[in-house]
Amino acid sequence: MINRRKFIEKVAAAGALSLIPNIISARNVTALQQSETNNIPVIISTWNHGIEANEAALNVLKQGGSIVDAVEQGVWVPESDPENMSVGLGGFPDRDGHVTLDASIMGPDGNAGSVCFLEHIVHPISVARLVMDSTPHVMLSGEGALQFALVNGFEMQNLLTPEAKKWWKEELNKSKYNPKPNWENEPNEHHDTIGLLAVDSNGDIAGACTTSGLGFKMRGRVGDSPIIGAGLFVDNDVGAATATGLGEMVMKTLGSFLVVEFMRNGKTPQQAVEEAIKRIINKVPDHKKYQVGFIAVNKQGQTGAFSILPGFNYALCQNGQNILIDSNSYYPQQR
Ligand code: ASP
Repeated sequence: MINRRKFIEKVAAAGALSLIPNIISARNVTALQQSETNNIPVIISTWNHGIEANEAALNVLKQGGSIVDAVEQGVWVPESDPENMSVGLGGFPDRDGHVTLDASIMGPDGNAGSVCFLEHIVHPISVARLVMDSTPHVMLSGEGALQFALVNGFEMQNLLTPEAKKWWKEELNKSKYNPKPNWENEPNEHHDTIGLLAVDSNGDIAGACTTSGLGFKMRGRVGDSPIIGAGLFVDNDVGAATATGLGEMVMKTLGSFLVVEFMRNGKTPQQAVEEAIKRIINKVPDHKKYQVGFIAVNKQGQTGAFSILPGFNYALCQNGQNILIDSNSYYPQQR
């Protein structure tokens, strides 16, 4: 993930000064949200790249697009950004040097689509959407997903940018994989999915999640992002949640589904994400070495975010503001 200073420099250099977000801490957000009477529409998404994605999603809603169009087109922005090294074009390659992508999408009707281990396609989210809209299935993988994309008019592209290739060569020299990569000192690096959730002014909810997954992963490794209930879950009666971080820990606890179930049972989005992080902490022995962050929204447009370690942030677009917020975390200090 590019850090906050680099992100602001990049946005400023692009002349998109209106996109430079206010950056505030999660403590101030609670007061902000509690004072609001009308919380919808709302768009919330993971990490710095969420600011531009939220903006794109909001434009879709303003132009009368559907909530599913909004979440899909929101995440197109980081997917097609070659400088974003954790999603789509320019994403981190696996340890064999291949960029393999995972994505999922869910709509208010409860329908879902996903792709995993997909190569050569810049917008895996749109392939996932097509799986949802035009097949009787939920998930396509690898070569079958690519074949499905090509038959439906998607074009193949080399996703390995020179910068990502350079990073991969450096990793080849320094990374150990025995059996896990040694990222313990950099829990917020080598990944950063965009998960984006939106509630429109009718209270309809959708979500999208797309990633190149963990950089330098084993070939064939699939993370939480395309697994419905792990990386993303939407229930139009209740709310939605999405995850980022070490997917294995999210998959072992079916994190996003868990967050939505906590909300169904009466918890606020903030209480729900905190409980889901605590579940990981109670169930996964070496959780302290790795990052996981959740964001959530309920049907009323209240939001929540929480992570295991500091360093997770998210973008919240609500009531005419699009702001980057530092999430609270279970452990206050990085080890
Ligand atoms: N959750 C993703 C994965 O494990 C990584 C990330 O969030 O960046 O594939």
